Amino acid sequence: VGVDCCGWVTRCFYQIGSATVRGSRATIRPTNPDTSIYLISALLTMPSLPIVLYPDPILRRMSDPVESFSRELKDLVDAMFETMYTEKGIGLAAPQIGRSQRLIVVDTSNAAPAPIALVNPEIVAYSGTTEYEEGCLSVPGYRAKVTRHASVSIRAQSVTGEAFQIHADGLQAICLQHEIDHLNGVLFFDHLSPLKKNMFGRWWKKHGKESSNS
Ligand SMILES: [Zn+2]
Repeated sequence: VGVDCCGWVTRCFYQIGSATVRGSRATIRPTNPDTSIYLISALLTMPSLPIVLYPDPILRRMSDPVESFSRELKDLVDAMFETMYTEKGIGLAAPQIGRSQRLIVVDTSNAAPAPIALVNPEIVAYSGTTEYEEGCLSVPGYRAKVTRHASVSIRAQSVTGEAFQIHADGLQAICLQHEIDHLNGVLFFDHLSPLKKNMFGRWWKKHGKESSNS
């Protein structure tokens, strides 16, 4: 079994498409010496935060745009990366740690850390469709095949407020769409057919409630 992300089975990592980033320092590549400094500082100083579980109402709220690019935002991003890696996820959205802010982190690389933080992300172009079995750290134990855009272009800001655009396909595109959905109060099972939503409802009655009582 592969890494569990904002819950995914990630055995298909070899299918990950490449992602290019223009004009931003928000995407930190493993070859960038800043990366290791960033990660080490995150690992040493930031505690892992508890994950908010469905059906907590914050997961259904429209998150607020980030307006202040402060030290606090940087600390929050560090804590989100730490939480995501601790939970063996490949993506995390701020509402999942109880913050209703338009902020996501993703790292879909299986080879080396390739963390990306996106503040106020917005899908500006997309093409194709793809299907992938998704899960979510906020809905532990449930997985379902979801159809999404195969590739996306996303406009966002870095933690220091610089605007950039990222083009993604493969697992990274799927993960980015899943996390941006969280900022709009959308969960992955919302994309299912009515029949499969019913199946989720039955699963939830049987397995979900106990896990969300904490
Ligand atoms: Zn999720």
